[in-house]
Amino acid sequence: DLHPVRRALLSVSDKTGLIELGQALSARGVELLSTGGSAKALRDAGLTVRDVSDVTGFPEMMDGRVKTLHPGVHGGLLALRDNDAHVAAMAEHGIVEIDLLVVNLYPFEATVAKGADYDTCIENIDIGGPAMIRAAAKNHGFVNVVVDVEDYDALLAELEANDGQTSYKFRQWLAQNAYARTAAYDAAVSNWMAAALELQAPRRRAVAGQLAQTLRYGENPHQQAAFYLDGSARPGVATATQVQGKELSYNNINDTDAAFELVSEFDAANGAAVAIIKHANPCGVAQAASLTEAYQKAFDCDRTSAFGGIVALNMPLDAATAKEIVQIFTEVVIAPGASDEAKAIFAAKKNLRLLLTDGLPNPLDSGMTTRQVSGGMLVQDKDVGHRAMQDLKVVTKIAPTEAQMRDLLFAWKVAKHVKSNAIVYVKDGQTVGVGAGQMNRLDSATIAGLKAQRMADVLELDSSLAKGSAVASDAFFPFADGLLEAAAAGASCVIQPGGSMRDNEVIAAADEAGLAMVFTGMRHFRH
Ligand code: 5GP
Repeated sequence: DLHPVRRALLSVSDKTGLIELGQALSARGVELLSTGGSAKALRDAGLTVRDVSDVTGFPEMMDGRVKTLHPGVHGGLLALRDNDAHVAAMAEHGIVEIDLLVVNLYPFEATVAKGADYDTCIENIDIGGPAMIRAAAKNHGFVNVVVDVEDYDALLAELEANDGQTSYKFRQWLAQNAYARTAAYDAAVSNWMAAALELQAPRRRAVAGQLAQTLRYGENPHQQAAFYLDGSARPGVATATQVQGKELSYNNINDTDAAFELVSEFDAANGAAVAIIKHANPCGVAQAASLTEAYQKAFDCDRTSAFGGIVALNMPLDAATAKEIVQIFTEVVIAPGASDEAKAIFAAKKNLRLLLTDGLPNPLDSGMTTRQVSGGMLVQDKDVGHRAMQDLKVVTKIAPTEAQMRDLLFAWKVAKHVKSNAIVYVKDGQTVGVGAGQMNRLDSATIAGLKAQRMADVLELDSSLAKGSAVASDAFFPFADGLLEAAAAGASCVIQPGGSMRDNEVIAAADEAGLAMVFTGMRHFRH
């Protein structure tokens, strides 16, 4: 199944490594064919290159839209070398065999990312490249197709190991990657168009990803898993630099994402914020004048759960905070930077993973989320819903004070990131009780209250910090019971969407309990 490489067609937009590859192939006696810019680069480096236009008998035309779309090229890629009729057709039409295709495509994704206008994006859709890639990949029985600069070395190593030939297995491996590349390319084009045309529900959706790392296992050790990038430049777990620590696990990545997205809700201009996540839910979130204080307050909310947690910061890690964090076992810390001193403190904890990002993601940036269900996939806009002070409607006889209002909005932001049903108690910029993921809202309120009591016990406080707290509910209270539970725990003010059939009952109960309550008119389910 070994097949020699005698002729290569090189046509690349990204010329990285092109010269070195051309030189190495040339040194092996491989004849080089190439298109305009690639041919020029190779020639400038002193290599002998034949122009594709020489093979096709046509010049490159229409601003490069038509360069390689010709039977002279596609016949050379697609002909079965062991089929007499194919070989005869090649001879009859003067078609030469192409054994190796090296193509990387017009940078469509990068052009979109730069915010180019519609026509520029369209002009950056590569046509001839994907056509050749697909043809060469189909004929992997004989033809090698390389679409990634990172694979040049693997190709040369394969040729070296097999005396100028490649194995079938190697060509199959290249072909699989090639089809994923063209699929991802067209997915990018189609998704860009869906966004440009503001299509609510395009009839077809394509998703694609590029392997970032294989994972030891998935959610559980008996599940295989890998991490794929979607090519967006959003600061976060996918684009962060891991400074130290063990390899990230599947659950680490999921929880780190939850932690960083949550903490990014808190603009660093308004103070330091820290979120600690366990099993995708926050077990403590706090905002304070200093990062150390914010960490301490987030930690104090639920010290038991914070053990083995994931910590996200909204500003660069400093030495004082690093010293606090290493006091207990922490899985991951993610932050938009770290001081050298902080890094040195972490260095003593070999297993602690430190991820550094290029700033915080903008929580208002739109995007898409997908979820697999049996037989299909659910696609929706990311939840970028936002409520500010002026959007809130006071529905009770008494209105929240300014300090209460701050805590209400803080609690509301946290609740958005808690699995439903979510009930969150907040006091002075610190979560003091989080009830997550219950099947009814009353239980979530009860659990949040119990957690607030546990916090008071651990910190040896005289009374639960839920006393005088602000409480957020991610969706409306269908009955008064959940609200009354929060009142019993000591909450003094409430933020919730409103919109229940029994809003009047709930408002009346709030008035009777002496609570201030505001409606957001927006829900934040998260499942
Ligand atoms: P070069 O810089 O060599 O002039 O062009 C290389 C680029 O042209 C590669 O990205 C390749 O995929 C692309 N390409 C090759 N043939 C064609 C074609 O017939 N039409 C279009 N639109 N692009 C092509």
